[in-house]
Amino acid sequence: MSKVTRRNLLGTAIAGLAAAPVCARAEAPTANTAAPGIYRYKIGSYELTALYDGIWYRPINAEFIRNAPFAEVEQALDAAFMPHDRLATPFTTLIVNTGKRLILLDTGTGGQIAPSAGALQVNLAAAGIDPKEVDTIVISHFHPDHINGIKDKDNALIFPRAEVMVPGPEWAYWMDDGNRNAATADLKAVFLNQRRIFADIAKQVTQFEPGKEVAPGIVTIPAAGHTPGHTVFAVHSGDQSLLVLSDTAQHPAVFARHPDWQASFDIDGAAAVATRKKLFDRAAADRMLVTGYHFPFPACGHLIKTATGYEHVPVEWQTTL
Ligand SMILES: [Zn+2]
Repeated sequence: MSKVTRRNLLGTAIAGLAAAPVCARAEAPTANTAAPGIYRYKIGSYELTALYDGIWYRPINAEFIRNAPFAEVEQALDAAFMPHDRLATPFTTLIVNTGKRLILLDTGTGGQIAPSAGALQVNLAAAGIDPKEVDTIVISHFHPDHINGIKDKDNALIFPRAEVMVPGPEWAYWMDDGNRNAATADLKAVFLNQRRIFADIAKQVTQFEPGKEVAPGIVTIPAAGHTPGHTVFAVHSGDQSLLVLSDTAQHPAVFARHPDWQASFDIDGAAAVATRKKLFDRAAADRMLVTGYHFPFPACGHLIKTATGYEHVPVEWQTTL
């Protein structure tokens, strides 16, 4: 048996090249722009469109995980092919078309977090969805990457007709001036941003109690920890369901594999871990289709339980519905 080495493979390729007839080639200009980030799938009769807003490489340091030594975190980042000083943080929003209403779950960054994110509007256009047609926005929690897409940089509403529905406990926590005054400088910026987004539209905002159905087949589920009012969603239609995990875990290559880790941005780290394990256990046991806001696009797949945590298995990309 002949041993194939890189050198003799290359040699064969070069010999083949020399023997090939010389033919003229048309020019192939490169596009130099990204392709659209949209993925469409069905849950029962509901048509869902996952829309990619882009990615942010969030700077991290030795304090990133509160309850693990950074050497361990670095090992996990290596295993996930990530650098040690930045966490890959992709953003995927979801439109649910119930046949009667267009409902947007979280709104992306509005181009106000990183130059590498803010593609939601371009991708909406590519998906043939007019922002004016969106009836309802349902927010999972008030971190900027979930609410900034309500408005553009100049404070104009991106979805001018949409009712904005927010978790009541989230509103109560972040709109409390006592909490704002007691916050660290970093967190104060988050409070300020929320006032920028909500102050002049407060009358158009509807608060819901997590646990309630906010639209036919869209049930909210309390999932506090990441933030005090953090909420996830179940989308039900026919005999199919999808669990929308919001920020129950950030990138699964780090946090599904290490479900016990309390990230510095989880307001109540222990509660965030308990919520993560409860929801992931349920999703794994019931073999539920899940999507996570910070999972790699199209952010949709399944979770399996492993000896030490969980593993995310992405969906196979379908070109038919
Ligand atoms: Zn987030």
